[in-house]
Amino acid sequence: MIGGGIVTVSYITAMILFILALGGLSGPETARRGNGYGMAGMVIAVLATILGIVTRQYTILLVALLIGGTIGIVLARRIQMTQMPELVASLHSLVGLAAVMVGFANFMDPTMLFTGVEQTIHDIEIYIGILIGAVTFSGSVIAFGKLSAHISGKPMLLPARHWLNLGLLVAVIWFGREFVLQSAAGGGLAPLMIMTAIALLYGVHMVMAIGGADMPVVVSMLNSYSGWAAAATGFMLSNDLLIVTGALVGSSGAILSYIMCRAMNRKFIAVIAGGFGTGGGAVAVSGDIEGEVTPIDTQETAALLASAKEVMIVPGYGMAVAHAQHTVNEITRALRDKKVNVRFGIHPVAGRMPGHMNVLLAEARVPYDIVYEMDEINDDFPDIDVSIVIGANDIVNPSAQEEPDSPIAGMPVLEVWKGKTTIVLKRSMATGYAGVQNPLFYKENTRMLFGDAKDSLDAVLKAL
Ligand code: NDP
Repeated sequence: MIGGGIVTVSYITAMILFILALGGLSGPETARRGNGYGMAGMVIAVLATILGIVTRQYTILLVALLIGGTIGIVLARRIQMTQMPELVASLHSLVGLAAVMVGFANFMDPTMLFTGVEQTIHDIEIYIGILIGAVTFSGSVIAFGKLSAHISGKPMLLPARHWLNLGLLVAVIWFGREFVLQSAAGGGLAPLMIMTAIALLYGVHMVMAIGGADMPVVVSMLNSYSGWAAAATGFMLSNDLLIVTGALVGSSGAILSYIMCRAMNRKFIAVIAGGFGTGGGAVAVSGDIEGEVTPIDTQETAALLASAKEVMIVPGYGMAVAHAQHTVNEITRALRDKKVNVRFGIHPVAGRMPGHMNVLLAEARVPYDIVYEMDEINDDFPDIDVSIVIGANDIVNPSAQEEPDSPIAGMPVLEVWKGKTTIVLKRSMATGYAGVQNPLFYKENTRMLFGDAKDSLDAVLKAL
């Protein structure tokens, strides 16, 4: 057992480590170190809490730790890189569920004897904690379904959905007042449960209404909510570390949501209100595009790449699916040995989670100094000899600029078609996540290399 002083010092150390972790995670070179700080902070936080704060029920705690830890290790080992977004969504849902459970447990705890203003404040903490937790939980479950394609990516737009949301908000405020009043008189469970049901419903409705291409904002927004849910739990348990950690996650998630919105040229409020970019009602679906596609084979692709001076590689979700990142790195090395200037153009929403492509390229040990963000290289395409689009679709779709009715209208895209030749690697003419046809494939200077990206690139590498 350790004393209160040691617990405080440990908590402050953990907080500092968490802040250092966030700092480290801001760049690919320092991300590994940042993760190390985060893990060290978490070990200190858990140990200090077990040894300094928990005083009873050690057996239950150990059994829970054992079960939770085992599930965590098995999941982390089994999960494929392509399933990471779903994993992140399911972890967010657990944070939300924990906040709901702690809220109810706190409310029912007979040892919590507050009176007067203190009780009102405690009740409000519980109410808000459960509210955020329930929205996070059900929203994340739906996000999990959408990311794993168990639920359609199309937005579900109920008529008068904004009025429905407003009605739910008013109901939540009204039941909040009821809860505080009834709790002072010894009751309050009924309004608390009704609010929980409303919050669960709101979470479902909010994420169901958000369409395919706007999902990145949902993922980062739920990340932020899970932080606020943890902070609210910290208030309920009077645990400073949980409050600070939750606030760190909440605010960094909010900043990430802002960055994702900016990357997609969307207004945050419009995205969370749902259905933005869908013409305010019906979902706009582009019809078939007239024109011909020009296929290319792997030999020709290798020849084009080898004779180019400037090559831009644009990776997308398909590279993750095909596990092609290591072959991409080998091709990059082979081309650089031939004095070809190879660069990578990364769209902020490429793949299925923020930073997805950067993680894959870092895993394959692609040098960081040739990996560029969209804003840094989008003006360079007219000077590019060959752009090679690996399993990307929505992020290189010119209709975002050309078709005002498109669901992705206004989203900045990588302007590959401005280069001399673009080679697109994909298996078929299928659409991407947003379900929109792509006129890029029909352009005169575009060549389609059909097939699994890994198989195609292995053959290209061999030919090189
Ligand atoms: P897209 O989903 O638009 O396109 C991916 C393409 O990869 C598909 O057209 C598919 O075509 C192809 N593909 C799939 N598997 C393979 C394979 N094995 N080999 C070769 N090609 C393959 O991906 P983008 O990265 O271009 O865009 C990301 C989309 O996801 C955006 O709409 C974004 O909004 C959304 N999104 C992003 C999130 C994020 O945080 N980054 C989160 C949630 C959604 P085919 O089937 O013909 O092979």
